[in-house]
Amino acid sequence: MTSMTSKKAAAKLNRAIARALKGMRPPEDLTVSEWADKYRWLPLSSSEPGPWRTSRTPYLKEPMDAFSDPKVRSIVMVASSQVGKSEFELNCIGYIIHQDPGNILYIHPDLDDAKKFSRVRVNPMIRNTGVLRSRVAKEKSRDSGNTALTKTFPGGMLFMVGTHVAADLASTPCRYVIGDEQDRWQPSAGNEGDPWELATARQITFHNSKNVRVSTPTVKNASKIAEAFAEGTMERWCVQCPECGGFHDIHFSDIRYTAHEHIVQKKKQYTITDIYYVCPGCGCISTERTMKRQPAKWIAENPDAYKQGVRSFWLNSFVSPWATWESSILKYQYALGDSKRLQVVYNTRFGELWEDRGDIADEDSMLARREEYGAELPDGVLVLTAGVDTQDNRMEYEIVGHGHFGESWGLEKGIIHGRPDDDSVWEQLDEIVFNRRMSFSDGVKLRVSMSFVDEGGHFTMQVRQRCDRRLSRKVFAIKGMYGGDRPYISPPKKVKILSPDGAYIGSCWQYQLGVDSGKQIIMDNLKVETPGPHYCHFPRRDDYGPAYFNGLLSETLVYDPNKKHPWQWKPIPGHERNEPLDCRDYALAAFKALPKDLDAIDRRIKAMRGQAPAQTSSPAPAKQPKKRREKSYDDW
Ligand SMILES: [Zn+2]
Repeated sequence: MTSMTSKKAAAKLNRAIARALKGMRPPEDLTVSEWADKYRWLPLSSSEPGPWRTSRTPYLKEPMDAFSDPKVRSIVMVASSQVGKSEFELNCIGYIIHQDPGNILYIHPDLDDAKKFSRVRVNPMIRNTGVLRSRVAKEKSRDSGNTALTKTFPGGMLFMVGTHVAADLASTPCRYVIGDEQDRWQPSAGNEGDPWELATARQITFHNSKNVRVSTPTVKNASKIAEAFAEGTMERWCVQCPECGGFHDIHFSDIRYTAHEHIVQKKKQYTITDIYYVCPGCGCISTERTMKRQPAKWIAENPDAYKQGVRSFWLNSFVSPWATWESSILKYQYALGDSKRLQVVYNTRFGELWEDRGDIADEDSMLARREEYGAELPDGVLVLTAGVDTQDNRMEYEIVGHGHFGESWGLEKGIIHGRPDDDSVWEQLDEIVFNRRMSFSDGVKLRVSMSFVDEGGHFTMQVRQRCDRRLSRKVFAIKGMYGGDRPYISPPKKVKILSPDGAYIGSCWQYQLGVDSGKQIIMDNLKVETPGPHYCHFPRRDDYGPAYFNGLLSETLVYDPNKKHPWQWKPIPGHERNEPLDCRDYALAAFKALPKDLDAIDRRIKAMRGQAPAQTSSPAPAKQPKKRREKSYDDW
């Protein structure tokens, strides 16, 4: 009898313990995405009410699962709007409450943001998700411990705060810290310093702490989230090109479209047609529909940061199932000419940092000042040179016209796809660039006088060898040297050409360029706003479209006292492609390296244009590097 009673009592106690534990401990071993797929319901007020489906926004899967990865301590997400970044935060919070409870500090820019978020996002999530509703008491009774900004649940509390009040950020220990819209935070909580530092200081007693920061990027060099991104794995969501199979993240500069302008009731209206994505790898075009169905994955630039437990992700609205490309392009079109509105479009749609370029020309005003040349060669051009940038899968070139006093004309910018060791690529370069003749309106032609080809990259020897064969056309290999204090051009020197197994097979002339000095000249010239000395002309043509200027204005001068050459030109985030700037840099250097008497050339061109329009001219023969014995060697 006694034993029976005690057995019953023990069983009862066990059941009670099990019940209590069920409230505390995870019933299953789930990742955040699995948890959300199983339990999370989106409220009627959301755009897609009903059960959460991670498959709808596949790019959120890894950030979510990083949260349940015990090796990850810190997650950073830079994201434009409309990608579901709040849902990512909410799913993490739901997971914590249900699966791995602990105190959560949820930081918003200010208290009003926190209140609004609680009302519009957190409460509906709790109401609509059964396993959360049963854990978080309603906020009506005074003793429930729940207010608009505080929620209690078995095993923890959720505190929602703004960044103004230091005390809110630095009181109770918290295992979890989640920061929303960090780039809009107060720079200092009262006098206490950086809100993020204050908040994460509360985590130090937890061996299993975790923090998450999410924000739309803002202004270059002032963006905390961009700084944090750089300290993590730096992952970007890359979509596979259906043509070449390469994975790239989609940038606005890779999207082409036609904007039609109408005036309706004295207001500008736009319609957008022919929207395409141009693959930066192969140049093929795809529609938005295709790109949104293609396989995609996160690609990390700095995977080693995983060892430190920091994963960082960067997303823009071009992959969002809710934002169409057309809607983003329209926002851009309407914002043109208004830098405040443009910044919003760059940040919230393109997911790019806005760059305050100060007095340096911006892409839009450069686009606006393009002109009709009326002929291949506008009057004023005296000498043509070309710059060729070498990439593993393509050669990019620009032919530039030069006149008196540093005035220049962009004449043609193009890409030849193929490897730099492929002779057919070089034959195309011969035809399109090195042997190119261009005509003035009256038919008089000028030939490209000198070309500089970048030998950096993986094909140095192959580039040297092919430049050497074109010595008579004044095609030279160049080596770019960094640091603003180097001379732009050093006298050419002989360098070896080696076969892949290291055997000496010849030599060629090479110019060393202080590329940063050239960039400074180009940037200074771009600031000149009236045609004449140092002015840069550009034609109103597709090869000088938004992508060109995004690349031309892709770098900024940065000072790093720890470097041997402290002033260096560095890419601006969001402007990863700098080929147009490099091509211009090489073409300008070729012009500077070319021995010439511009007045004499001018006189000769004028004479020709008065007398024999069909003849060809080329500037005074440059003094060629010392003649050397011709050699032939096998190709590789
Ligand atoms: Zn491709």
